[in-house]
Amino acid sequence: MHRRKVLKNLIQRGSAWVVLPLIAACSGGSSESSKEYDLASITDCTDLNGLPEEEVSKRSQLGYVEKTPISDNNCDNCQLYLPPTETRKCGGCQLFKGPVKPEAYCTYWAPRVDHG
Ligand code: SF4
Repeated sequence: MHRRKVLKNLIQRGSAWVVLPLIAACSGGSSESSKEYDLASITDCTDLNGLPEEEVSKRSQLGYVEKTPISDNNCDNCQLYLPPTETRKCGGCQLFKGPVKPEAYCTYWAPRVDHG
């Protein structure tokens, strides 16, 4: 449900260049192995062990880097970032599985919109 809200928000802001590939990334390529990956079980946020190959490859396709080259744009202030929670030590991203650092970045960065 949250993903749908994000997509609607991006569409309303005219970010079709973000939305179309995002829909493809979200709907395609899911396999049994990626469903089994559990971000909540990861304690080392740099550890990609157990992450399905396709998810590792998605990171590079999206231009993910662990340190943003643009000081004002990073995962921590991205609309698609999933911050750590009480039960999940590492942050994540709605576009791919695996740990994501708050200071990281990818080419799909979109400004976080707070809904008051
Ligand atoms: S910048 Fe990229 S990797 Fe980071 S949360 Fe946003 S979409 Fe995900």
